[in-house]
Amino acid sequence: MECQDYSLTRTVERDSLNLNPLQRGGFLPVEARKALFEFSDGYSVCDYCAGRLDEIKKPSVTNFLDDLAQFLKVDTVRTVHGAREGKFAVMHAMCKPGDTIVVDGNAHYTTHLAAERNGLNMAEVPTSGHPHYRVNPEGYREVVDQLQDNGEEPSLLVLTHVDGNYGNLSDSSIVGKIAAEKGIPLLLNCAYSMGRLPIDAKKLKADFLVGSGHKSMAASGPIGVLGVKEEWAEQVLKRSPRHEVKELEMLGCTSRGAPLATLMASLPHVIERTKKWDDEVQKTRKFVTEMEKIGEIKQIGVRPKEHDLVRFETPLFHQIAETHPRRGFFLYEELKKRNIVGIKRGQTQWFKCSIYGFTPQQADYIILSFQEIGQKYGD
Ligand SMILES: *Cc1c(COP(=O)(O)O)cnc(C)c1O
Repeated sequence: MECQDYSLTRTVERDSLNLNPLQRGGFLPVEARKALFEFSDGYSVCDYCAGRLDEIKKPSVTNFLDDLAQFLKVDTVRTVHGAREGKFAVMHAMCKPGDTIVVDGNAHYTTHLAAERNGLNMAEVPTSGHPHYRVNPEGYREVVDQLQDNGEEPSLLVLTHVDGNYGNLSDSSIVGKIAAEKGIPLLLNCAYSMGRLPIDAKKLKADFLVGSGHKSMAASGPIGVLGVKEEWAEQVLKRSPRHEVKELEMLGCTSRGAPLATLMASLPHVIERTKKWDDEVQKTRKFVTEMEKIGEIKQIGVRPKEHDLVRFETPLFHQIAETHPRRGFFLYEELKKRNIVGIKRGQTQWFKCSIYGFTPQQADYIILSFQEIGQKYGD
């Protein structure tokens, strides 16, 4: 047979300033691009494997996992295929089908799917709704109390550290305190935080952490990080009776080759960038202030921002779209003319964006571009 066209060029998206929050933390530094080339062959990290991915000495996955554990202040670390697989593994090891777990109202769909695939019921801690969508950490106590009053003992609490809709940062330490009081372990979903901001599992009082290499740790992926408190390591990392060195929940080995090599190569870069997190937050706050000055643009979610993911409601652009010959596509096209991408085509009522990792000059250019577009069509 002859293959069809799967054109794999991505010059526009790569060469432009990409505002898609999903893309901002996954850019590879040069070291990782070299590793990507070096380890591009399938099982390339497995040349010197004696049966355990986490114990490979060349390249030293062992040293890497040690460093990663130290960086996250967590007892034990494994790599998984993504944040979702990390959540699935924890739920699978800690809960039985029919159990109830407690999740927050901003939980990612992959939390829901991981629970569904494990046959778990979910009780939800609601958010405050529009416009802030705040998750009250004390809400976990109320939901657990309610469940217990009905004779149900939840087996896991899951908190989204930073959610992907509003970029709200939740106070994990309060939920962790409640979890400890109730004797229920806490799984913290750090897909949007690990690799961007400093994570300290001890301070956050989390029993489990999951992170996403391709989302926030400058890795090609798909790869995720699972951090486990010593207390649960045996249960979550139990071995196969038949293949004694293989860890069951990991299905033996997880992400291999280029995804792992890029995650490893990027760690020093990631460690350095998390030290500059406060600057990123300040840059984001300035961005919000300037965007709102344009008028008819409003940041939704908790204010002031504590994370780079920003959701704006943009009646300004929606009004322009009503009479513009290109309708809803005008915004995407105007931005693209200025080498800015990452806002969904046709979307003008609201959008999510991030300027994480851009230089102050690039951030100013982005602000200026939105101002220009607003003025060009404004009355
Ligand atoms: C992106 C995201 C995920 C999924 O991460 P994967 O590593 O792709 O599984 C999970 N949770 C949140 C909050 C996310 O933003």
